Amino acid sequence: MSRIAYVNGAYVATRDAVVSIEDRGYQFADGVYEVCEVFRGALIDEDRHLARLARSLAELRIAEPVSAVALKIISREVLHKNKILNGYVYIQVTRGVAPRDHVFPPASVRPSLIVTARSVDPRKGDAAAQKGVAVATTPDLRWKRVDIKSIALLPNVLARQTAKETGAYEAWLIDAEGMVSEGAASNAWIINQSGTIITRQVDHSILRGITRTTLIDIISAHGLRLEERKFSLEEALGAREAFITGATTLVMPVVAIDGHTIGEGAPGPMALKLRSIFHDEAARST
Ligand code: PLP
Repeated sequence: MSRIAYVNGAYVATRDAVVSIEDRGYQFADGVYEVCEVFRGALIDEDRHLARLARSLAELRIAEPVSAVALKIISREVLHKNKILNGYVYIQVTRGVAPRDHVFPPASVRPSLIVTARSVDPRKGDAAAQKGVAVATTPDLRWKRVDIKSIALLPNVLARQTAKETGAYEAWLIDAEGMVSEGAASNAWIINQSGTIITRQVDHSILRGITRTTLIDIISAHGLRLEERKFSLEEALGAREAFITGATTLVMPVVAIDGHTIGEGAPGPMALKLRSIFHDEAARST
């Protein structure tokens, strides 16, 4: 079956889908995106993803291409046309097509919108979670507004590639003070020896992950101890458990950092419990 994408008002076969070479996303990475998990046909935390998309657009002064209601309809149509039950929806908005010039084009230039979707077997993630994953650290080379979910991901691409070349699943980005910012495409968490769950506070230096936000709701509903603060690589190496969160990874236990074993070198009980609660909550919302 050929895959179908939504591109600026039309549903087209992905192999025939094209955007202009003068699209500002192509020329300047002048755009933003969202990735929303699909579980049993439902878009998990969709409203939060759409709210973050609206915020990213507002921060960059890009107009909303369509209303949130229309975007929900388009996303469902793309899922339906591609017969996807589990996987993710990808939404990308750029500042539109205009002759190349750094300054914004006139307001009459409409933003570009594409929506695609991909099928992912959830058993794959579950199998990875049973074993846990390794992360490798690399310097955080990104700009100072990574709270905006911009399509300009070159430092993230390089970090992930470096991680992959060392056999790791994810890269943890280390800031100039030696503190862990977040993963290249995930938020970073540790659980210290006294059982406190720790993740970096939200400001301009990390992306406010939707999975992170929902997990914090779960953590507080279950009366678990949480600290939102920076933690160093050294503290992470001495942690009882570590894990990452993201819309496609959910809660994924980390068992090694730069080749150093975390805890027992196996997925921690708390990370696995949080993953299973997250699954249950997602299933309930479908
Ligand atoms: N941090 C970065 C840099 C990301 O790219 C992502 C997801 O792509 C996340 C965190 C996790 O965000 P979410 O939970 O919304 O997927």
